[in-house]
Amino acid sequence: MQRLVLATRNAHKIAELRAILVEAGLDGVELVGADAVPGAPDVAETGVTFAENALLKAHALAQASGLPAVADDSGLCVDVLGGAPGIFSARWAGRHGDDRANLELLLAQLADVPEQHRAAHFACAAALALPDGTEHVTEGRLRGTLRHTPAGGGGFGYDPILQPDGETRTCAELSAEEKNAISHRGRAFRALAPRVVEVVAPAG
Ligand code: IMP
Repeated sequence: MQRLVLATRNAHKIAELRAILVEAGLDGVELVGADAVPGAPDVAETGVTFAENALLKAHALAQASGLPAVADDSGLCVDVLGGAPGIFSARWAGRHGDDRANLELLLAQLADVPEQHRAAHFACAAALALPDGTEHVTEGRLRGTLRHTPAGGGGFGYDPILQPDGETRTCAELSAEEKNAISHRGRAFRALAPRVVEVVAPAG
């Protein structure tokens, strides 16, 4: 059976990508997380775009495992802040992964910004890298408006303050299925899926 490595230790992301690949016709591939790769490197995200960071992670894992590798990088981009927090979304308040502090700092920064200027989007780059250096990268977005106060108990990160366009609920009030169907990550992975299918299950 062909194997594919995903640059994450998050079981939820692995399950999400598996579902998308099955939908794209890739059945019977063994999708493993970075945990399953001995010596998988912890990659410094030194790129200045989501695509660069996703590619850095995918190449490092493809080299370490000798297998095709997929990685993603994502964040929240606020129009009135010129696209920030962007690639710094996970560490906006100074500590990596402190979701609550990140969200509170952003709300404080935008406290006086009125409704009509609160447009923002989640962005995600998904990268595929092969051990021979071949690479492919796709991007997805989820556009919306930032609320003044958080709502909803689902999701993570900035989900409680982003209300997708056409929705009356925030991302944290959507079910996981509803969010996956429209999310930046879902869109980027679905765009990448045909390339993964080509590589893992070559025609002929
Ligand atoms: P990473 O791609 O796992 O490095 O995530 C970057 C950061 O962007 C996360 O820590 C969150 O703060 C934010 N982010 C990315 N995707 C989402 C999302 O779907 N909902 C909420 N926050 C997100």
